[in-house]
Amino acid sequence: MNEGLVADVIVIGAGIIGAACAQALARRGLQVLVLDAGLHGATAAGMGHLLVLDDNPAELALSRYSLQRWRALAPDLPDGCAYRNNGTLWLAANAEEMAVAHDKYLNLQAQGVACELISASALRQREPELREGLEGGLLIHGDGILYAPATANWMLDTPNVRQRRARVRAVDGNRVRLDDGHWLSAEAVVLANGIQANELCPELPIEPKKGHLLITDRYPHTVTHTLVELGYVTSAHNATGPSTACNIQPRPTGQLFIGASRQFGTTDPQVESWMLAKMLKRAAEYMPGLARLNGIRAWTGFRAASPDGLPLVGQHPQRQGLWLAVGHEGLGVTTAPGTADLLVAQLFNETPPLAAPPYLPQRFLGEPAYA
Ligand SMILES: Cc1cc2nc3c(=O)[nH]c(=O)nc-3n(C[C@H](O)[C@H](O)[C@H](O)COP(=O)(O)OP(=O)(O)OC[C@H]3O[C@@H](n4cnc5c(N)ncnc54)[C@H](O)[C@@H]3O)c2cc1C
Repeated sequence: MNEGLVADVIVIGAGIIGAACAQALARRGLQVLVLDAGLHGATAAGMGHLLVLDDNPAELALSRYSLQRWRALAPDLPDGCAYRNNGTLWLAANAEEMAVAHDKYLNLQAQGVACELISASALRQREPELREGLEGGLLIHGDGILYAPATANWMLDTPNVRQRRARVRAVDGNRVRLDDGHWLSAEAVVLANGIQANELCPELPIEPKKGHLLITDRYPHTVTHTLVELGYVTSAHNATGPSTACNIQPRPTGQLFIGASRQFGTTDPQVESWMLAKMLKRAAEYMPGLARLNGIRAWTGFRAASPDGLPLVGQHPQRQGLWLAVGHEGLGVTTAPGTADLLVAQLFNETPPLAAPPYLPQRFLGEPAYA
């Protein structure tokens, strides 16, 4: 480390993305300082579903690679990270959605993702609480779940990573100004502060996408896989207006997470009863017994959405020394290891494990203004 620098790399944000980047950089021998303002970020609010998504080839490449990385990391994760390889079961309500399941199956199989089409009767055998009359489903074997806040803490607890509670008020290339007016410098600064990224870089095209979640009391063995309606792909993930989709996830505690909702154009963190009711009604349409369960807490969180749904990973083209790892929308827990590997490869000028161009910031910010 050069004299006058507080670290080789300063990472802004200790959510799952900042933590994964910090761990990957530290494992390459760099001294990393992580600054976090202690705001309630998306990592603490999300579902922790690790899933391969294939809305487009770049999303599939990053999620598929990241799932491989999570499975490789799994033996090292402490119990508190609550990692389980329980698989995702995509639910088809009708023949049209079963056709979507079939296309998805072919697409994923072609990319080497282990998956299986499930008939209506096999679906009820695997998940007896599902309502009768569903058309079938698609099981993705390698998907899983984890508890993201504990996993981020585990990543930050890596030799060469230091943490400091501080709010960054400005960034200038490889320098940051803190709340108290002090400037800190490093060889590089990584911006990984989720939905607050625009506060430090107003030019970033990131918008908040609000989500509601509910957790139930403990009902062990009610559900085995994470259950997601196939309509999620069209009705919720890509929608611009408010939307809900059935998403039921069994926690290792026996509790169930119930989601998912999406709303643009609001930063109000209040739980909205109309949206919560709509979301729960949708889930109960797939699993009628849910209506008898006791929900113990509902909350909201904000996903940092980019215009094309992909994260921005790489050096800021106009601010040399500032690296971006932002805009992970509803998939940042899944894609944290892939993001970290992409970032590290670019920082070290190495060939990345997957093609970097679809995630480069210049697709929104223009070509680099430096050599
Ligand atoms: C309801 C919901 C459900 C979700 N479900 C899933 C899911 O099932 N699977 C999945 O893969 N993803 C899911 N996500 C998405 C996932 O949670 C996010 O993509 C991911 O957590 C983003 O992590 P992050 O580190 O970028 O941001 P955050 O977790 O928001 O962390 C940003 C950090 O930056 C800090 N910070 C902000 N500004 C400053 C500043 N100026 N100075 C210092 N520190 C600062 C904050 O304190 C915060 O700790 C969900 C999100 C939501 C909201």
